Amino acid sequence: MNIPFKHSATGTTIFTVMSGLATEHQAINLSQGFPDFQLDEKLAAQLHEAALGNFNQYAPMMGLPMLRQAIAQDFLKRYSVAIDADKEITITPGGTYGIYTAFTSFLQKDDEVIVLEPAYDSYIPNIEMNGAKAVCVSLVAPHFQVDWSAVKAAVTTKTKAIIINTPHNPTGAVWSKNDWEELASIVRGTDMLVVSDEVYEQLIFDGHQHFSVLQHEELRERSFAIFSFGKVFNNTGWKMGYVIAPPTLTNAFRHIHQYLAFSVNTPAQYAIAQYMNQPQLPNVGAMMESKRNYFLSLMKDLPFTIHQPALGSYFQLAGYEKISDLPDLEFAKWLTREYKVATVPISPFYKNKKDDRLIRFCFAKKESTLEEAVERLRRVLN
Ligand code: GLN
Repeated sequence: MNIPFKHSATGTTIFTVMSGLATEHQAINLSQGFPDFQLDEKLAAQLHEAALGNFNQYAPMMGLPMLRQAIAQDFLKRYSVAIDADKEITITPGGTYGIYTAFTSFLQKDDEVIVLEPAYDSYIPNIEMNGAKAVCVSLVAPHFQVDWSAVKAAVTTKTKAIIINTPHNPTGAVWSKNDWEELASIVRGTDMLVVSDEVYEQLIFDGHQHFSVLQHEELRERSFAIFSFGKVFNNTGWKMGYVIAPPTLTNAFRHIHQYLAFSVNTPAQYAIAQYMNQPQLPNVGAMMESKRNYFLSLMKDLPFTIHQPALGSYFQLAGYEKISDLPDLEFAKWLTREYKVATVPISPFYKNKKDDRLIRFCFAKKESTLEEAVERLRRVLN
């Protein structure tokens, strides 16, 4: 048989590759982004309660009303934006699914989508799976800011959307208010949609505040905003997220969602909704900020180059030019094999695999894990 499988579906994601290698070599896994510490016991107890109670059958396609209401209240409280829980929120099995489903709800063959690179590795395959084309614009190193004149130059009559991401994976950069105004001025008067990946919205440091596309009245009308519970409640394995979009876009989104996942894990939805109803939730941003600080303090004397401390997300980029001149993927594999610390190389985040000789560390780990990892890295030059 000669089956022409979809090109975008043939590779293996770098997260699977590096986590697999970490397991194979019993390395400390600072590659794939996930916490290695326990979630809040109260949240675990709610899941237990849900499974013992009568919350084990299909949830409504758009998500449990109690969870959608809890999200609407949360956004009112944290961002002062009113969101219609029935018409604008859909619960999804994770943020990555939300992005794919948003694209699938509007992309037609040969449409173009602007992608700012380095970009989370599912964006381009998700665009291409829909027969559309990713038009890539590079962020400007070392701070990975958006070059808005380059974005403007990338817009054509075929441009259907732009996907943006702040706080940014893998660079830890965050957008300023001005970036949002630049984006608004580019899409104004066009039919371009915005897919706004805000999964790290609560992981933002040094007094920066996340500004959501939902707070920008003009942009909000044309945007899908993507969120993830895993990043906020330290439970990435629950694969739970949500998408907020105006009613027309939400309708289109649900038309696809109903035939993909249909609905999401009911007991987990119940547990998160109950948990969100407490008056005060733990401050995950402050916790991750102190982990970043701790990680950077441990790394201080090591020969890695930190061009800029992460301003958000749970990722820190580092250069390794003082250690090796291997390509980044080879270097990351070598470090995993020889020193038993797994990281993620950055070239897979570029369509053309551009190699900036940078690797990404995930610092969402126990202090003891970070200490042991840095201890192992210390041996690299000895
Ligand atoms: N978002 C996480 C990361 O960037 C991992 C997601 C995944 O493994 N697909 O590491």
